Amino acid sequence: MSCEVKEKERAGIINPIFTCQPAGAQFASIGIKECIGIVHGGQGCVMFVRLLFSQHFKESFELASSSVHEDGAVFGAVHRVEEAVDVLLMRYPHVKVIPIITTCSTEVIGDDVDGAVIKLNEGLLQEKYPGREVHLIPIHTPSFKGSQVTGYDVAVKDIVSYFAKKSEPNGKLNLITGWVNPGDVTALKHLLAEIQVDATVLFEIESFDSPLMPDGSSVSHGNTTIEDLIGTANALGTIALNRYEGGKAAQYLQNEFDIPTIIGPTPIGIRNTDTFLQNVKKLTGKAIPESLVRERGIAIDALTDLTHMFFAEKKVAIYGNPDLVIGLAEFCLDLEMKPMLLLLGDDNKTYPDDPRIKELQKNVDYGMEIITNADLWELENRIKNGGLELDLILGHSKGRFISIEYNIPMVRVGFPTYDRAGLYRHPIVGYAGATWLAEEMANTLFTDMEYKKNKEWILNVW
Ligand code: SF4
Repeated sequence: MSCEVKEKERAGIINPIFTCQPAGAQFASIGIKECIGIVHGGQGCVMFVRLLFSQHFKESFELASSSVHEDGAVFGAVHRVEEAVDVLLMRYPHVKVIPIITTCSTEVIGDDVDGAVIKLNEGLLQEKYPGREVHLIPIHTPSFKGSQVTGYDVAVKDIVSYFAKKSEPNGKLNLITGWVNPGDVTALKHLLAEIQVDATVLFEIESFDSPLMPDGSSVSHGNTTIEDLIGTANALGTIALNRYEGGKAAQYLQNEFDIPTIIGPTPIGIRNTDTFLQNVKKLTGKAIPESLVRERGIAIDALTDLTHMFFAEKKVAIYGNPDLVIGLAEFCLDLEMKPMLLLLGDDNKTYPDDPRIKELQKNVDYGMEIITNADLWELENRIKNGGLELDLILGHSKGRFISIEYNIPMVRVGFPTYDRAGLYRHPIVGYAGATWLAEEMANTLFTDMEYKKNKEWILNVW
């Protein structure tokens, strides 16, 4: 018995795990202050993505479309970018950063977005908006390759490389969080504050858990500023938490500006949070304070109450963004659970070379499958026709129908999680995240025990 990594054998996708590259670029763009992205394509490329974000965060925010129509598909639609930039600048006087995000259609048409940006910089911006600070950043995200994950990675790298500028060292640590929730950002900031590290948290969406204020303002926006992005070239180090969501930008800063860089691990679970803090210590020289040792102890105490008694041998399937899936699998193994099936939803050929996957292959002593280019049918088919028995599913809301249909308890984690209240507020990273995640899994299993009358009496004497 071992851990097998293989690509889905079927052609085509049934019930995809991911959406397309422009979605990832849009997620990166909402993390920047005074920024509205223009998606160059049909309106649906924004409308459905924005809906997904809004469903997940239960918030409102701004994204624009160049709204390409039939004539553009035939004759080219680059003029729509020029018009969209002008309209956006007129309508939103505060906007300074405009990522121009391409889509499948406009990449196939062959619209020269880079050329349009040069033309706008030399023409419209100087003639109509002289003196106004405007940054137009072309981001190429054709949706016929990669996924939302690669789209995020490409956008983060393109935006960082556009702004990063060498000057005096600023003594700060760059933290590229990857695709996380507001609650994760709060938890990460807390860890860094405890360790007294001055950090630039990049593509920072903490305020997407935004208050409804007496003046009625309720539009969410990112918090990463132009100054933050410029300063990335002057940091004392970079940590990218996720290999596939921000790893490219971290690598760029290292290659271009000699910024010491550590990529991963995603701080899910005790082990990975320990490594994250050790990495912060390595780059900043700051000691890990007693307060975090205590926080770690509280988390370990909580997990010890659950692990052997309730989690041991529980079979789990996990799907979603690759760094998240791998981090969750590592955490489940530490909790004595058995991740049986990991689904990675795009055709990235390098997954088998990921050292964390190689580590799983070396150490797992039962039949675990890791499927790349996967869809949700890979999960459903194994349950329905392949005899896969599961105690728990970990994944985003798009898999809820499998949980409901086959009566398998599910913990919502990842993106999007629109069918449960407030999940974006709860961290899954750090010691607090490990505790919350383990208790959420335990409580979900307890509810299932009661619902199915499966040894629920144990809970009377626990
Ligand atoms: S697949 Fe193409 S058309 Fe559909 S949302 Fe993505 S970029 Fe737009």
